[in-house]
Amino acid sequence: MKANIGLIGLAVMGQNLVLNMNDHGFKVAVYNRTTSKVDEFLQGPAKDTQIVGAHSLQELINQLETPRKIMLMVKAGSVVDQYIEDLIPLLSPGDIIIDGGNSLFTDSNRRTEYLKEKGLLFIGTGVSGGEEGARHGPSIMPGGNPAAWPAVKPIFQAISAQVDAAPCCEWVGDNGAGHYVKMVHNGIEYGDMQLICEAYQLLKEGLGLSTDEMRAIFSEWNQGELSSYLIEITANILAYKEENGAPLLENILDTAGQKGTGKWTGINALDLGIPLTLIGESVFARCLSAQKDERVRAAKVLPQKSRIAFGGERHATIALINAIRQALYASKIISYAQGFRLMREASKEYGFALNYGDIALMWRGGCIIRSQFLNDINQAYNQNPDLENLLLADFFVDAMEQAESGWRQAVIFGIQQGIPTPAFSSALAYYDGYRSARLPANLLQAQRDYFGAHMYERTDKPRGEFFHTDWTGRG
Ligand code: NAP
Repeated sequence: MKANIGLIGLAVMGQNLVLNMNDHGFKVAVYNRTTSKVDEFLQGPAKDTQIVGAHSLQELINQLETPRKIMLMVKAGSVVDQYIEDLIPLLSPGDIIIDGGNSLFTDSNRRTEYLKEKGLLFIGTGVSGGEEGARHGPSIMPGGNPAAWPAVKPIFQAISAQVDAAPCCEWVGDNGAGHYVKMVHNGIEYGDMQLICEAYQLLKEGLGLSTDEMRAIFSEWNQGELSSYLIEITANILAYKEENGAPLLENILDTAGQKGTGKWTGINALDLGIPLTLIGESVFARCLSAQKDERVRAAKVLPQKSRIAFGGERHATIALINAIRQALYASKIISYAQGFRLMREASKEYGFALNYGDIALMWRGGCIIRSQFLNDINQAYNQNPDLENLLLADFFVDAMEQAESGWRQAVIFGIQQGIPTPAFSSALAYYDGYRSARLPANLLQAQRDYFGAHMYERTDKPRGEFFHTDWTGRG
């Protein structure tokens, strides 16, 4: 019996996806550049399964049913292009190459077109959920050549996470749409993580709470509107003690790494001219954290005196914990509103024809940002698929109104304490800006006209009529 699918790249993601496919009754043939890993895999985790190995690409191709489906789970970038070049002469028209790595969506745009010219079909798919997701059910976001989808759909929808009997996998759109949505997912993940970190710092340094007290708070928050995988693991992280009984978290160096998908999201938002302030701040917060030695030097030089001490009264502490929860929730809404607004623009700009309700459903399970809250987003788009901005949906109008005063209080508290809350406060600034019918850009436009004759429109004249003033001529 021939294999249903071939997979190249037996690192952590590839191995787990193969085992997941095998569990669901699909026969998989595997190949890896370092071929000893094929043997190690077959003799180790894949022992007693129907998975078969190959020591060359030709051997892999010979083992596959037609149309052949070959999934790459390798390092993103030139390695994917190299494999595509190596595979092309071995394949027949109608065969399918799937790239499941974290590739840049513009590369997937290019690869879809390139393979189409060769008579081959390309799928660029986001796979989220890390090692655990890959093994037991990831969120899968496929895009590319839609002609490839019917052949791949049964496999992907079987191995993906399932929520309320629905697979967390649906066709996203043409060309690089799948990788685009995965990129925004990762950007939102950066935002969610930064928001939780800001809440943690306010609770810890502002209110002086212990890790056990914070664990209890995050566990409680996980029961309500913030219920999500990241809040759940934060409580577990706070609970984790080293052998000597000390919380491990406090011994972890405060420098964050990043692989680039958050940065890509920010760059794309700048390209499309869409405010994505919260994710941008989250990327920069990681950059600032990485300047550890410089921060340590600065902490010795720059004065710390102007902080307003917090008295620690019980009723004030309880009120502030509640305010921090509200700040986290409201800021999270802003982050998703900005992310979905960006996807709306991208859909128009790149012709992706994205379905935002489906995207929310795909992210409900299997991935790092899975949460209760995505059901509310799904409902908002079901009620109005043309929603301009999530903030305009009735549910979120009410949610923001209820959270607003606590949100402001938490940001003020951070400012008074000298605790940075870049994501909380930039989210609030966006909210205040977004709901302002008039912004100070009249002055900005006047300045542009003053020094560069860039002209301005007038409030008392039709849009599109431009004026210039000789600002210095009249003294
Ligand atoms: P990885 O460390 O990104 O890549 C390792 C795989 O790439 C190995 O099979 C390796 O082969 C192959 N490779 C690297 N350089 C190569 C080259 N020059 N020529 C041929 N093969 C080469 O593996 P991963 O963490 O499992 O991730 C796979 C993909 O999924 C990546 O695009 C990653 O961004 C994405 N992803 C990862 C996660 C995660 O949590 N790790 C989550 C979602 C998506 P050798 O064994 O021969 O070195």
